[in-house]
Amino acid sequence: MKYRIAWMKGDGIGPEISDAAIKIITLLGDIYGIEWDIRFYEMGDEAKKRFGTALPKETLDGIRSSDLAIKGPVGETAFESIVYLRQTLDLYANLRPAKSYKNLPSLKPIDVLIVRENTEDLYKGIEFKINDIAVALKLITEKGTRRIAKVAAKYALNRKKKVTIVHKANVMRITDGLFRDISKQELKMFDIEVDEKYVDAMSMALIRNPQDFDVLLTPNVYGDILSDEAAQIAGGLGFAASANIGDEFNLFEPVHGSAPDIAGKGIANPYSMFNVLVMALDHLWISKNDSSAMHAKETLEKAIESSIEKGYLTPDAGGKLKTEEVTKYLEQELKAYVR
Ligand code: ATP
Repeated sequence: MKYRIAWMKGDGIGPEISDAAIKIITLLGDIYGIEWDIRFYEMGDEAKKRFGTALPKETLDGIRSSDLAIKGPVGETAFESIVYLRQTLDLYANLRPAKSYKNLPSLKPIDVLIVRENTEDLYKGIEFKINDIAVALKLITEKGTRRIAKVAAKYALNRKKKVTIVHKANVMRITDGLFRDISKQELKMFDIEVDEKYVDAMSMALIRNPQDFDVLLTPNVYGDILSDEAAQIAGGLGFAASANIGDEFNLFEPVHGSAPDIAGKGIANPYSMFNVLVMALDHLWISKNDSSAMHAKETLEKAIESSIEKGYLTPDAGGKLKTEEVTKYLEQELKAYVR
């Protein structure tokens, strides 16, 4: 199979971790007979400096005409680029897995998938001021809730078949009340266990007993906050990836920002971007029913786990290796798995 990828390297450490991931996806393509047509586009602070916009039209067109869109982190222009893209391309499902690894310090063992509605809620951007009063509107729709609940169910079926609906319907009775009720209605149609938790109790429970949870279904804002918490429980932002998926388009990216403090030093943790590849391959498997993408994904996941277990890590994760060295070791692991 041949797939076109629109790749935006982004700002700060974005180019370094992108280059590492391109080596890995190229190797996987060679092993599994997948042909990648990778096209590079500009997005973020650098793009704004050069073209006057953080999201040039060519980039948007490139994303629209590709099978996969992969981006590195962007700096100050995140709102103009990624938040805008989520709305414009209707990337309504934000998937954020958080998983701890053997030999990597984590607060507690955790393996959860946060399924976050990505286009509504307070992040809809409906904000205004009346004299000295600032207002933001929280928007939750039945349609938006139904479709995100279906996504949560679909992923839960391939995991531990359990979904926890996160809300604050005791206070936000109408908006979060709708989210809770419609989610329950949808989830009832699937053979999965469903429970619910107030978001404040959830943030506590996630630290106390993360192993009690599997898929968390959340409105936009709660998912944003809980996913950073979950990433930290799992072992830090340097490993966390996320997917933005709609019915037509997709965008895969690391959870962290552009890390300007370490940019250009060659020590950025590339595992976030390797996990981005895991999610992108998983999407190809699900959306195109391509079994070579599934095999590539499974091999990559195992190789990542064993690389981490063997201590092939950058300084942020307690290791001593450079980005390039970690990448070389992962290449070796990949080759060992398919031998
Ligand atoms: P931005 O303004 O783009 O959000 P930031 O530095 O405020 O950048 P993050 O980029 O998320 O926010 O980084 C938070 C901290 O985590 C920084 O100290 C950064 O160096 C570190 N960090 C984030 N991602 C990585 C990574 N992949 N490898 C190593 N360190 C990382």
